[in-house]
Amino acid sequence: RNPLGVRVRVTVLDDEHVHLEVEDVTEAHRVARVRRDFVANVSHELKTPVGALQLLSEALLEAVDDPETARRFTERIQHESARLARLVSELIELSRLQGAEPLPEPEPVGVDRMINEVLDRSRTAAVAKEIVVRWEGEHGLTVYGHEGQLVTALANLVENAIAYSPEKTSITIHSEKSGKRVKIAVADEGIGIAAEDTDRIFERFYRADQARSRATGGTGLGLAIVKHIASNHGGRVEVSSEVGVGSTFTLRLPSRPPAGASALKSQTRM
Ligand code: ADP
Repeated sequence: RNPLGVRVRVTVLDDEHVHLEVEDVTEAHRVARVRRDFVANVSHELKTPVGALQLLSEALLEAVDDPETARRFTERIQHESARLARLVSELIELSRLQGAEPLPEPEPVGVDRMINEVLDRSRTAAVAKEIVVRWEGEHGLTVYGHEGQLVTALANLVENAIAYSPEKTSITIHSEKSGKRVKIAVADEGIGIAAEDTDRIFERFYRADQARSRATGGTGLGLAIVKHIASNHGGRVEVSSEVGVGSTFTLRLPSRPPAGASALKSQTRM
């Protein structure tokens, strides 16, 4: 429980002299604790779908003579395995983003292209819920970074907006230049987020209760990925939300190339 960690090494040099080495290991302890918690969380999150798959496949074997029941079990197996596959690929993505390797040189990325790509990717999910995704604001903006990662970040925000909104609502993507930054906001008319949850939703595996009970099939990693991508780009992500009214997530990204190559660095902290 002691937040301060100190490692002391004593070497007796002779009758009158000792060599005392004191090392502050507080940060190392913190990292080790975060890592232990993370491994425990991952194990727990993986056990749930794996356990479900085991039970469902046993049930499926029992139900071979009843095609209707067998079909239901097969659908649930599909659902659980899709969830498992998503969890694994998001864990890989997150660990890549947290890797110690420096990122390649940032390149100019057209915001229009990025948004069009995200609109394309989210079309099926939006249409299924009769949700209209609009884009307004400035066109022709440029940000600096890695197109693939930036598209992933924005797509995660739009996917969440769709997942946590009722049918027949609208989502608005708004792009504008603001000083040295480009602001891309995703506003929904969804369930909203309670004030006590807004700081924590960017943590890995944290999910607000309401959303969990809705069983959206999410992993709790999407926003942690968005936060890492934003900060790896020297930007940030913010949220403002009201329960029952809706949420707005805003990405702020650099609109100019970074001063030195080192300005875009992969984070090593966990
Ligand atoms: P998940 O896979 O659960 O969606 P995320 O990391 O993407 O994980 O989001 C974490 C939690 O934040 C969600 O479980 C949900 O409670 C909340 N959340 C994220 N986006 C929204 C949104 N647009 N509206 C309401 N709640 C949201």
